[in-house]
Amino acid sequence: MKIFKNLLILIGMFSISIIPFNLVAQPDLSKLKGEIWKITEIWEPEPIVIVPGNTNREAPSDAIVLFDGSNLDSWVHKTGEDAEWSVQDGYFTVKPGSGDILTKQSFGSCQLHVEWMSPFIIESEGQGRGNSGVYFMENTKLGDTGYEVQVLDSYNNRTYSNGQAASVYKQHIPLVNASKKPGEWQNYDIIFNAPVFSDDGQLIKHAYLTVFHNGVLVQNNVQIQGYVKFIGYPEYKAHPSRLPIKLQDHSNLVSYRNIWIREL
Ligand code: MG
Repeated sequence: MKIFKNLLILIGMFSISIIPFNLVAQPDLSKLKGEIWKITEIWEPEPIVIVPGNTNREAPSDAIVLFDGSNLDSWVHKTGEDAEWSVQDGYFTVKPGSGDILTKQSFGSCQLHVEWMSPFIIESEGQGRGNSGVYFMENTKLGDTGYEVQVLDSYNNRTYSNGQAASVYKQHIPLVNASKKPGEWQNYDIIFNAPVFSDDGQLIKHAYLTVFHNGVLVQNNVQIQGYVKFIGYPEYKAHPSRLPIKLQDHSNLVSYRNIWIREL
């Protein structure tokens, strides 16, 4: 009898440990007041800081080049107008207030290389310092519903861990903080596996992301819980199998260069 009881306890412990994160009881946000966006901030653990090596990477011959240093012909604003962000000296910079830009071409699963630089002049703190973002499968018809890899100046700039540079915003904390100083070029190499929906809009397969930040693995095939949300829990909304990639205008002078993609 005692053995049976111990067995039951063991089974109980095991089943608790395998309950997925997204099935843990979540408070009903509609009943809460105040700074409800803080509910999805996770501050611990804080990823340890490491010093990355140099890893700039030229586009391989089979890549689609989305920015080669000369112009933003591959990009548009959500409105369909020409991308207004300023191009200079082989890179381009967010034009604050002009809005996000999207690739003209749509993509599903892909390998994306993007180089970015936080503004040299340090202003503000936390989420207000060098904020931008790389969004996969941005569905402009449904509002901001992409899957975001956060771009942020996370060099000596504490914020919630699931909102720092190379986080999957408000979903996954990076394994380490491989940030370089503001004013230095950094890069992401991202492998994105698109979600799959059935014809009637049910999620058949989650999206997955792997991210290298300055050559260092920081997201290891993490499962995406849904599109990015500032307030509330991520959720999926059925969307086409190919959609644009978006770069975020978060009112900070973040720069980009050498962007290329390989479809998978
Ligand atoms: Mg962002």
